[in-house]
Amino acid sequence: MEEKIYLSSPHMSDEGYEMKYIKEAFDTNWIAPLGKNVNEFENEFAAKVGVKSAAALSAGTAAIHLALKAAEVGEGDIVFCPSLTFSATANPIIYQNAIPVFIDSDYETWNMCPVALEKAFEKYPEVKVVLVVHLYGLPADMDRIMEICNKRNVVVIEDAAESLGAYYKGKHTGTFGDYGIFSFNGNKIITTSGGGMLVSNNEEKINKARFWATQSRDKARHYQHSELGFNYRMSNVVAGIGRGQLKVLEQRVEKKKYIFEFYKREFSELDGIEMMPVNDWDEPNYWLSCMTLNGKVRPLDIIEALEVENIESRPIWKPMHMQPFFVEYDYVGGEVSEKIFANGVCLPSDTKMSDKDLFRIVGIIKGLWKQEAYKEVASTK
Ligand SMILES: *Cc1c(COP(=O)(O)O)cnc(C)c1O
Repeated sequence: MEEKIYLSSPHMSDEGYEMKYIKEAFDTNWIAPLGKNVNEFENEFAAKVGVKSAAALSAGTAAIHLALKAAEVGEGDIVFCPSLTFSATANPIIYQNAIPVFIDSDYETWNMCPVALEKAFEKYPEVKVVLVVHLYGLPADMDRIMEICNKRNVVVIEDAAESLGAYYKGKHTGTFGDYGIFSFNGNKIITTSGGGMLVSNNEEKINKARFWATQSRDKARHYQHSELGFNYRMSNVVAGIGRGQLKVLEQRVEKKKYIFEFYKREFSELDGIEMMPVNDWDEPNYWLSCMTLNGKVRPLDIIEALEVENIESRPIWKPMHMQPFFVEYDYVGGEVSEKIFANGVCLPSDTKMSDKDLFRIVGIIKGLWKQEAYKEVASTK
């Protein structure tokens, strides 16, 4: 059997940048806790996305949790959150004993629908935070969302876990709201094996997040704690991987875009395929190449056909309002997120793929269309 092709797997730099920074940490015996790599990773990251400060954390989920804490979200507070996302977006709302209200997507962006958002504000004017997601590296419509949010007294948090390297009208995703969060989990566009970043132009709040993330230790010689603490900080070794990976981010985006364009070109001859929406003002990072199907071939047909060839693909995230754990919470909107879920597929988007790999994948998928065509001919005879 041919070598497995992954959806999106870790891809270290050819130049060996990551090892250089890790080695530095080892040579100075500074593998933990904090140190130069953590500080530099934060500075380099903040400069890359264009924001004042950044706190390196153990996970993107931890970053969302601390952003909610920084926004003073507590028991019974309402947080708007898109339904079409990964559960890690919504879970920290529950960690804070707050109440998520799920918002539908629109077809233009696949992200939070501004019309549904307006409706949610009418229903829940007391909402405290709007948590926006840039799914699959596609920017949400931030002009319209920020306009709606700025009219109200709400904090905006952007879950940019999947959108590092993606820009909306020339500005980096994750830098429009009060807080942005990023993830370096193993399948993300760059990875540290696991980790996250919280960014903000509010330096004070980022300092506070670093304090919470290191067990909320007061500045005292003895161990003194005036607040609840968390063990959420990134280690100096992990930050070294991040510094190296950050250097190849543009290379990764370029390859992800190449993969998307490849599929788009090859599938343009097939009926019933619509590639994920890329708007004129978007520069997505194309983290995953996704598409929806509206013909005879169904998402599961593609996923199964690829699976037998040792190739990984996935359905679209299942909306939160359809999840057993979250069904009790309110949902504002229509059927957009449900339809994208029902008809969507995430295609293999690994940056280590060759053209040969891509042609193999495309060939398998085109084969399904041929099968359908034969079936049709047979049935009319
Ligand atoms: C990956 C991901 C997260 C969580 O990041 P971790 O680093 O895995 O904790 C949050 N939100 C979205 C949309 C993600 O894809």
